[in-house]
Order: sequence, then C-alpha cells, then structure tokens
Amino acid sequence: MRAALRRSWLVRRALREAAPGRAPAPPCWSCGVALPSSDGPCFCPACQALQPPAPRPDLFRLMDCDRSFRIDAEQLQRRFRSLQQAVHPDRFGQRPPKEQYYSEQHSSLINKAYKTLLSPLSRGLYLLELRGVEPAQETDCDATFLTEIMEINEKLAEPKSEDVLEEIETLIKVKQEELTREVTAAFERDDLQEAKKLLAKMKYFANLEDKLKAKKIPS
Ligand SMILES: [Zn+2]
Repeated sequence: MRAALRRSWLVRRALREAAPGRAPAPPCWSCGVALPSSDGPCFCPACQALQPPAPRPDLFRLMDCDRSFRIDAEQLQRRFRSLQQAVHPDRFGQRPPKEQYYSEQHSSLINKAYKTLLSPLSRGLYLLELRGVEPAQETDCDATFLTEIMEINEKLAEPKSEDVLEEIETLIKVKQEELTREVTAAFERDDLQEAKKLLAKMKYFANLEDKLKAKKIPS
C-alpha cells in the first residue's frame, strides 16, 4: 500500500516537473539553425551567436543544481562564476547590439538565480512556487511566535546599545539556523504545508535582520 502510494506520488511529481514551459527553443536569431531548448545561456553551434534567455527558465537547472532545498553552496558559486564569465557584457563589445543586449539579460538573470538559490528563505519560497504552493500570509503565524517577534522589535526600537544589538544578532542567527534545519527536514519529507509555515517565520527573522543592519550603521 505504502509502496503504491509512493509510486503514484513519484509519477505525479514527474508529470509536474516535465509539464511547464518546456516549449521547443526558437531557431538561432542570427543564422536560423534549429537549437535545443536550454535553461542556461546558449551559443549557436553554427554561428556562435549568443541566444536570448528562455522566457521562464528553471533557476535550479540554470544553476546546475538538483531541485532540492539542500544545495551545495560552493558548487552554486562555481557555476555562478563560470556562467557570469561566459556571458559577461565586456566580452560582447565587438558583437552586434542584439547580442550585447542578450548578454546583459543573461547576466542579470544569472545574478537573480544565484541570489534566489543561495538564501534559504528565497530558495524555499521558489521551491514552493515551483510546486504551485502559495506563500503563507504573515498573519498565519501563531500568537506565541508573534509575541516573540514583537519583543525583539521593541528591543530594536530602544536607544542604541552595542550589547543589546549583539545579543539580538546572536538570537537572530540561532533562530535562522534552527528554522533552516526545520525547513530542510520539512522539504525532505515533502511536507510543503509545514515548509510554508516555517518560511513565513523565516521571513520575520529576515526582516529583523534588515532592521538590525540598518540600526548598526553609525549615525
Ligand atoms: Zn546561428
């Protein structure tokens, strides 16, 4: 029974992952040769022209990562550097304006993909989006949690004290690590509703971290 359930879940997952947005790639804009569809930057094998980015690429495929919450940050960074090097606008100075434009588009898309996959919060939200799960509303968190956040906010609003800021910084870091572990486990059990709740909490801590950074700037 369990095996059958798991099989049907795997089939559904395969269908979902294969279905969206895999339209065949348009032919080369420069020489008209047929091209394979690709999530990453594609150079025409016949004339070497850089092609425009796919309309809605899968950021995990673009960055050569498994579609999973667990990522290898070093591998992600290596992929980021090599892609950025391949499409860097400086390399297209002597190429037609169209290609210069495509190189800028690729470059900003690669930045976006890197940032999205590197941060646990945006990576988790993107995974939910790929699975068709709406993100939680901030009000979905329980009262105890919201009180805890309110208390940290109040401390942050007090006159600046290095000791208090350091204490809050440590607290935020510990909470974020704890939540990251919990989100990892939730995604690994494929419990998307739990992942969604935990990510809503993570968002609160990300906001607190922004406030803390702003407060630390010497005035
Ligand atoms: Zn071509």
